[in-house]
Amino acid sequence: MRAELIDGKAIAETIRHEVAADVTRLAAHGIIPGLTVVLVGDDAASATYVGAKEKASKAAGMQGETLRLPASTTQAELLTVVERLNVDPSVHGILVQMPLPSHIDPDTVIRHILPEKDVDGFHPVNVGKLLIGHTDGFVSCTPAGVIELLVRSGVDTRGAEAVIVGRSNIVGKPMAALLVQGRAGGDATVTICHSRTKDLAFHTRRADILIAAIGRAEMITGDMIKPGAVVIDVGMNTKPDATKAKGTRLCGDVHFESAVHVASKITPVPGGVGPMTIAMLLRNTVRAAERTLAVAAR
Ligand code: NDP
Repeated sequence: MRAELIDGKAIAETIRHEVAADVTRLAAHGIIPGLTVVLVGDDAASATYVGAKEKASKAAGMQGETLRLPASTTQAELLTVVERLNVDPSVHGILVQMPLPSHIDPDTVIRHILPEKDVDGFHPVNVGKLLIGHTDGFVSCTPAGVIELLVRSGVDTRGAEAVIVGRSNIVGKPMAALLVQGRAGGDATVTICHSRTKDLAFHTRRADILIAAIGRAEMITGDMIKPGAVVIDVGMNTKPDATKAKGTRLCGDVHFESAVHVASKITPVPGGVGPMTIAMLLRNTVRAAERTLAVAAR
């Protein structure tokens, strides 16, 4: 048996088309959704992510802007930039790219972003709304993307044993909150594992749906997976590979070659969860713009 691939690239493409249609609809009301990404410093990986976000937002017909600030930017200066964006009516979504230089406290910055413009879904107000099941907040893009992958691939989460490896605030915890909700893509029985979990394989082998968000290259091997499970690999790691010109290759947290013979469905890396994150960011930005329209209509 070889698992069916969950094609995140194709599903993300579909969502991008849906977003572009929403952008056209909003344009009829004179609204162009605006996403401003703030990048502090010159971290190469962050610059690549930010460039991809700007390109994708423009391709969807949005106003995509990137503010590139020097690494020497103080926390107070960054907060002033955020405050300016908070009150700018042409900006519907604000994203401050993480990680920030070490002299800036990321939590302080996140708390400064207006929750209504926090399209990353990291503000405590949005995290709280997710936990209590309110749908007028924003959900962190990667876990929201995983739910879309499951739903659009026809995976029935209801009553399934879902095991998440990783408890970060941006992936593991919101992932658990989404899977446990009583709506489409939810109603699962959820277990969260982390570095202090005793006997990780005991838990992963019970999973009908296994989500790996660990940041450890190929740590989940085929023998840790229940036959027929759906495996979602959030991990994005690099491994040495002499056959590649760069000398490295991208890999997930799941050992794909052994897992693909055990799982029923699996996401590849690249081409699985990765493309979904930006698609969900665009969708959150369109929702932020739609909400301003709804407020204006009141
Ligand atoms: P974090 O480092 O914030 O969290 C990793 C989690 O894995 C922690 O909860 C940690 O446990 C747990 N963990 C680490 N080692 C083990 C272990 N040996 N056994 C069990 N659990 C372990 O990472 P993120 O959540 O930010 O990201 C996870 C992965 O997903 C990374 O590879 C990242 O690059 C990728 N990612 C991909 C995205 C995409 O768009 N595809 C977006 C975001 C992330 P503890 O809390 O105890 O330390």
